[in-house]
Amino acid sequence: MLGGHFNPLIFTKAMSEKTIFKRIIDKEIPAKIVFEDDLCLAFEDAHPQAPVHILVIPKKEIASTDQLTQEDGPLLGHIYSVIRKIAAEKNLGGGYRVVTNCGPDGGQTVFHLHFHLLGGRRLNWPPG
Ligand code: 5GP
Repeated sequence: MLGGHFNPLIFTKAMSEKTIFKRIIDKEIPAKIVFEDDLCLAFEDAHPQAPVHILVIPKKEIASTDQLTQEDGPLLGHIYSVIRKIAAEKNLGGGYRVVTNCGPDGGQTVFHLHFHLLGGRRLNWPPG
């Protein structure tokens, strides 16, 4: 965002266009998919920040954590079960991190809800 401040016009524009993740769901652009079912999709991040860096996204178009409702509870439970399954497959028994950035100040750049699954190295805390 310009000057690091929230700009509602840019935010609204970003929300009205088909996001890069929706285009991946629709198979308009390629991704290294590691899991897919009716509710969600998981694929490798294009710019990995750890040896394992998978993005898990709902197929339902939810812009961010701020747009979640109580009705999405079962969907979130399902997503976390998929995250656990992938973490086991990737041998992350030593631990891993699940991150969801929300809004510009949270570092969110793609306005389709997603969960970063990071692992395969010791992760620092606090994050930047
Ligand atoms: P955010 O910054 O919104 O939390 O995370 C967006 C993530 O999406 C970033 O880690 C970025 O590397 C990843 N990303 C952006 N565009 C693409 C793409 O076209 N393909 C894949 N696989 N990942 C992408």
